Amino acid sequence: MHLARFPRLSLGHFPTPLEPLPALSAYLGGPTLYIKRDDATGLATGGNKTRKLEFLLAEAVAQHADIILTQGATQSNHVRQTIAGAARLGLQTHYFLERRVDDFGEEYQRSGNVLLDDLLGGERVDHLPAGADMPLAMEAHAEQLRAQGRRPYVIPGGGSNATGALGYVAAAEELLYQSSQQRLRIDHIVHATGSTGTQAGLVAGLAATHSGIPVLGISVRAPREKQEENVWLLAQRVWQKLALKGEVPREAVRVNSDYVGQGYGIPTAATLEALQLLARLEGILLDPVYSGKAMAGLIDLIRKGEFGKQDNVLFVHTGGAAGLFGYRQWFERQAE
Ligand SMILES: *Cc1c(COP(=O)(O)O)cnc(C)c1O
Repeated sequence: MHLARFPRLSLGHFPTPLEPLPALSAYLGGPTLYIKRDDATGLATGGNKTRKLEFLLAEAVAQHADIILTQGATQSNHVRQTIAGAARLGLQTHYFLERRVDDFGEEYQRSGNVLLDDLLGGERVDHLPAGADMPLAMEAHAEQLRAQGRRPYVIPGGGSNATGALGYVAAAEELLYQSSQQRLRIDHIVHATGSTGTQAGLVAGLAATHSGIPVLGISVRAPREKQEENVWLLAQRVWQKLALKGEVPREAVRVNSDYVGQGYGIPTAATLEALQLLARLEGILLDPVYSGKAMAGLIDLIRKGEFGKQDNVLFVHTGGAAGLFGYRQWFERQAE
């Protein structure tokens, strides 16, 4: 595997810390928990999209793009990081938002990531209803721009294509290096999975290095079979891009979709509990859409005895805390 073959920019602070979670581990009574702080990638409050954007925006530059297009849900962390990364290159971002969750009120519509998108200088082209064909909207806008002589570079939702997922192949190398430096045996990796790039990259990178570390994605949206299929398809494309022999073993792709609750972006009681636990025991801010749900899943699986007491479990914190400010009313409801 030779990642340096692909164009890459430096947009974040890497390596991100890999640290123990002593208070949470003690609270749960084992396994021993660790955290990979991909919330701390440094780009405009950070998050997992920064790794993908190092490869995606490098490709945009290589193609002489003069404007970036992307899309996401209203409180998208991906859109925020894309605008920030492009700004550093002197490129503007045109973006589309989808009202994927609809009736959360004023702060959800205006604060959190939405406020930051604006501050970072992105230009919102449209705010479309739930279920809108977002790739189509982007392609139509890209066509218009091309007709005006512009050179748009279109980044899919979540930055999840084979180029973006290379960011998580790099993350796999990074965490393996840290684990050997720290003499830390990692028995399991757990993280939130949505648009699939994070898990596809990790799984491909960990398989390519024959690490033998199992990865479990906690789905924030799709049912297990569908999410596993989509992760696997992307992992295979990453594998081909890396010109590796054979294929990604299907059984290396494991997803649990038991913690989605009512749907994407709708926190469950367990999500709010996980947010509070990490905040109060470890001083770490999770987010209500992704990392909070994934941590709620991890805690529940621990309570059900799914991990050995002697295991070392690494949680990848994928970021998103900026979105908390769009969710104030959920914490008030809980307090009632
Ligand atoms: C996008 C995102 C994820 C999911 O990563 P995918 O690569 O889309 O599966 C997880 N956590 C946060 C905070 C995100 O913004």
